[in-house]
Amino acid sequence: MVSKESCLLCQIIEGKIASKKIYEDDLVLAVLDVNGANPGHCFVMPKNHHPILEQIPDFEVSRLFQTANRISSAIFENLGVQGTNLFVTNGVPAGQTVAHFMIHIIPRKENDGINLEWAPKQLTEEEMSTVELKIKEQAKNIGDFKTGEEEKVIKQPPPAPSQSSEDDDYFSKQLERIP
Ligand SMILES: [Zn+2]
Repeated sequence: MVSKESCLLCQIIEGKIASKKIYEDDLVLAVLDVNGANPGHCFVMPKNHHPILEQIPDFEVSRLFQTANRISSAIFENLGVQGTNLFVTNGVPAGQTVAHFMIHIIPRKENDGINLEWAPKQLTEEEMSTVELKIKEQAKNIGDFKTGEEEKVIKQPPPAPSQSSEDDDYFSKQLERIP
C-alpha cells in the first residue's frame, strides 16, 4: 500500500496539488474529478489517510456518506440531471487505483453512455444459502456504532487544581458535564 507521503489524495488535501474544491470541513474534502465520467463528477474523501473503508472510524464514515448525500442533492438541484451513482471501489480487485478511500458521485442522464451493468451470476439454492449464512454470522456483531461524541468530552481541558471553594465549585460543575 502507498504511504501517506506519496499519496495523491493526501497531496490534494494538503494543497500541494491544485483542485476544484466543492466542500471542506474538519473531516472531509470533496473535489471535482479531473477525469470525470460526466460534468459534475466529484468525489468525497476523508482528510485522514485511510486506504479502505474498513479502516475508517464510524464517525468519519457517517460524515463521508452524509456529505456524499448532500452533494448528490446539490447536483440534482443545479445540474439538471436525472440521477446520480454513488460509487466506491474498495480494494484493488474492485477497481481501486489510489490507496486512499473515496466516494465517487457521478451525475447521470438517460443514454449518457456510462455502463455500470453486469451479467447476473446464477447460483444454486445451496450456494445462496451458504453465502447467506457466512455473511449473517459476521453481521450479528453490527450495531456498536461510535459517534465520536465521547471523544469531544475527553478532549475538554481539565480545570487547574485549586484550594478555593469557588474553584472547587467550578471543578464539580465540569465533572457533572461528563456523562
Ligand atoms: Zn492519502
